[in-house]
Amino acid sequence: MADEKKIAKIVVDRNLCIGASTCVITANTVFELDAENKAVIKLQGVKNSGPAERGSLEDQQVGDATILAAAQSCPTRAIFLYDEAGKQIYP
Ligand code: SF4
Repeated sequence: MADEKKIAKIVVDRNLCIGASTCVITANTVFELDAENKAVIKLQGVKNSGPAERGSLEDQQVGDATILAAAQSCPTRAIFLYDEAGKQIYP
């Protein structure tokens, strides 16, 4: 995809997250559920709902398509993606 936007930052809106867990199934190296059944982002050393810089992800090999698919799989659109200029890519 030539015009694929680069994902630079990921944020989970914990107020929107209902713990449906489809993001975890789609990208289990990037997302997991915490004790409150809210999605957190797996970062190097820590896990939180972000904002998470792409370079801080535990999984440095994960592709943009996988992260986007995870965000698109969220029934409440709780996962927000931003490009390097800070522009919102999704939703
Ligand atoms: S898919 Fe959405 S609602 Fe479900 S755990 Fe992930 S962020 Fe939360």
